[in-house]
Amino acid sequence: MTVSADCQALLAKYVVPVVPENVLLEDTAIIIDHGAIVDVIDISAVGERYPQATVQALPHHVVMPGMVNAHGHSPMVLMRGLADDLPLMEWLQNHIWPAEQAFASEDFVRAGSELAAVEMLQGGTTCFNDNYFFPNITAEVVEAAGIRALLGLPVMNVPTIWADDEAGYIDQGLAVVEQHGGHDRIGWAWAPHAPYTVSDESFCRLGELTEAGGMRLHLHLLETAGEIEQSLQTHGEHPIDRLVRLGLYNERLIAAHMTQLTAEQIEATARAGVSVLHCPAANMKLASGFCPIDRLDRAGVNIAIGTDGAASNNRLDMFAEMRLASLNAKGSALNPEAAPAARSLSMATIQGARALGLDHLIGSIEVGKAADVIAVDLDEAGSAPIHNVISHLVYAVGRHQVSDVWVSGQRLVQAGEVTTLDRSAIVANAQRWADKMHA
Ligand SMILES: [Zn+2]
Repeated sequence: MTVSADCQALLAKYVVPVVPENVLLEDTAIIIDHGAIVDVIDISAVGERYPQATVQALPHHVVMPGMVNAHGHSPMVLMRGLADDLPLMEWLQNHIWPAEQAFASEDFVRAGSELAAVEMLQGGTTCFNDNYFFPNITAEVVEAAGIRALLGLPVMNVPTIWADDEAGYIDQGLAVVEQHGGHDRIGWAWAPHAPYTVSDESFCRLGELTEAGGMRLHLHLLETAGEIEQSLQTHGEHPIDRLVRLGLYNERLIAAHMTQLTAEQIEATARAGVSVLHCPAANMKLASGFCPIDRLDRAGVNIAIGTDGAASNNRLDMFAEMRLASLNAKGSALNPEAAPAARSLSMATIQGARALGLDHLIGSIEVGKAADVIAVDLDEAGSAPIHNVISHLVYAVGRHQVSDVWVSGQRLVQAGEVTTLDRSAIVANAQRWADKMHA
């Protein structure tokens, strides 16, 4: 194979490629060139086959695909810890929405997106699926940070600084896509907030737009039981029946939460090809219910994992979320075999990529894919001894063990520090926002 003079070789003690699932490679080199993975070979063969490669030794590390945070609202990191220990509607209507009304602005979104990008990159997340106001500003941060994202164009019937009504939100989204255009690390999705904040008319319009643009429809769905009751009263039908009637229950739909599902709805979800974005921490913190990922998984539904916003988690920590996904699945299904480690690792990587329509590009360590990979340092007491690396990644490792992160071959984290953003300035700026919110 011919590679350029600036090709890199990551010499890893362990590699977990994720595809195929539950496979561990030892003493393996990943060769990266022009941002892509061009070879995966035994370390002993590197000197002869790639003598020009810049070598990075990772002697106590496991290299795995970067994590895909499949559901979040990144600028909400500025509301981390602002209102805890409350029910969803009280939390949303009496705390989060008023705070957003008072403070959300371009500067707020920039400050929050920067803080979220630093937190996610340092924790091994290389791609995130977002939904917040001013996605054009988040896009600028994504470009500068070097991270990858699918950015939602929000739509709801709640007036905010971003738009007055649903039609206004759609106009704003169309303008953002028009102005920003394409970018190799940024995609756009339509992101209606939830069935209880979006009309049939807007849903139909978004159905046309997502179909025409080959885009995802990113929606909060069945987060709580109350949402079903409210839909039956307002629309005379269950939210899923409503989405089916509107022609939106299909493979473009990526649905966050899904804590309330009957057996028939699980089968219908599998048949429709809807991806479920599972957010175990937020569901437990807001006591919304348990997403039945054991049953969804057995039915063949693509499940991805997300942190949700930091106001309801309060971490953008995919290692913590992956562990919770496994524990929550076992505890809620009363089945210790539910969501085994290798499956949760798939949900946090390749299945997240599949939900976002990016599995041809990211989510696994395979030749031809983008070099979106992370190195996790296992040289610490909490990771000893090493019986099973994949078990450690899900049940034992903490995000502080992420030492290095590459996206499209660019090193965005080196020895635990972000290379593209000024972490201390961003943290100080976030504190200025918190001080303002408490003034
Ligand atoms: Zn959410």
